[in-house]
Amino acid sequence: MRIVMLGPPGAGKGTLAKFLVKKLNAPHVSTGDLFREAIKKQTPLGVTAKECIDRGELVPDDLTVKMVEERLERSDCQEAFILDGFPRTINQAEILDRILEEHHMPLDRVVEVKASNEMIIKRLVDRRVCSNCGHIYHLVNKPPKVAGICDDCGKDLMHRHDDREDVIRNRLEVYHEKTDPLEVYYGDKGILIEVDGEASIREYLEETAEKLNIPVSDEDFQ
Ligand code: AMP
Repeated sequence: MRIVMLGPPGAGKGTLAKFLVKKLNAPHVSTGDLFREAIKKQTPLGVTAKECIDRGELVPDDLTVKMVEERLERSDCQEAFILDGFPRTINQAEILDRILEEHHMPLDRVVEVKASNEMIIKRLVDRRVCSNCGHIYHLVNKPPKVAGICDDCGKDLMHRHDDREDVIRNRLEVYHEKTDPLEVYYGDKGILIEVDGEASIREYLEETAEKLNIPVSDEDFQ
């Protein structure tokens, strides 16, 4: 299944992506992760992307589209993918349509995770991410056993620069202005499903599975 995930930062797309990757055996293509990898490696793309990301702004389309197209052309994406963070604008959605059409890879579903700004700000300011394995923690709801250290790999947890309140507010403003219109864009194509990102993790994963006709059992939530 070829899936695009929509939803503001912090709505729970990361958790949903992990679940879908496992259930559908599909690669997770996250533009945010691809940019962060480029920043770590200090490539020319990484240097430009960092300036935009640190301000909570979008990276220019030409750079983003090239990166996504190269990733989708790889063999693991031919049958299925979970695309996360792209498209973020109508222009990017139209470009994606063109790329997928050229490669005969039609989209099956767009999953939109819905959550309010207030819920998101509460989640993100206390979010901590392992600098090594990417495991996600929350200082109140899911704290690590030892403060600042990842339970899984023992490496340091970090507070993403763009998870600070002023940057989050800017990211949300950019999201609502530029990405909200995609709800209508994909709704009109008849491939949009909406899920409640404010429900408990299990509830919203179950809701998504049901709407995508993916069978689940208790084991999926342990
Ligand atoms: P994310 O992890 O998806 O929240 O992405 C982190 C940051 O990467 C965003 O705030 C943007 O600056 C940049 N970014 C990710 N995806 C895109 C995109 N499709 N277009 C432009 N910039 C993007």
